[in-house]
Amino acid sequence: MVRMTLVTNVVLFSIGSIIGHIGPRLPTLFMTRTKGFNVRFEPHPEPVRLSPYLNQRILHMRTFYWLSLVLAGIILLFGALSLRWGSASFGFGLWLASSWLVLSRLQAALGSRPAPWSKAMAVELQLVMNQASGQHACCTMPVPLWHLQAIQCGTCQSVLASIARPDLGRPRSDGRLRGILRMLITDGYPLAEPLKIDTTSEE
Ligand SMILES: [Zn+2]
Repeated sequence: MVRMTLVTNVVLFSIGSIIGHIGPRLPTLFMTRTKGFNVRFEPHPEPVRLSPYLNQRILHMRTFYWLSLVLAGIILLFGALSLRWGSASFGFGLWLASSWLVLSRLQAALGSRPAPWSKAMAVELQLVMNQASGQHACCTMPVPLWHLQAIQCGTCQSVLASIARPDLGRPRSDGRLRGILRMLITDGYPLAEPLKIDTTSEE
């Protein structure tokens, strides 16, 4: 009987923490993943061409990222209700996972680790686009493409900006389930480091 309640509590705690972990991330996991949302983009994992659509996508992902804070707040509330009147283990699971998310978002808000998608990032992409279409373009036919580690010109291969590419909300080539798992582990952050540019050899 004692063992039964222990097992039940562990199961309830696990279910609570899984819901608390996935729940707030649902928008980033699903909102933009259907094909119809991605006709303007090259399929994952190919490099993406810079465009106003890409900037808009970055801003959407940023909204979902911060929306998860609101969803975590709702889950915290449910966790509190469950702790008080429902199953304590389930409520504790909800609490643990969603407060962990709140802490990681606070870290991003306080600036110790910038969010995977930000307004500054969209501005930077716009600046790269402006430069590519202006007088100081890298070559006569600039095509800025966002690779995993940097934005490079598709024509002359020169590195236009050293920014690692976060998840862009495209349907992932590794399949839906593995894509979701990967998103849950990385939280959208790029796995690759930004390309290090050796400025001494370029001069
Ligand atoms: Zn070029």
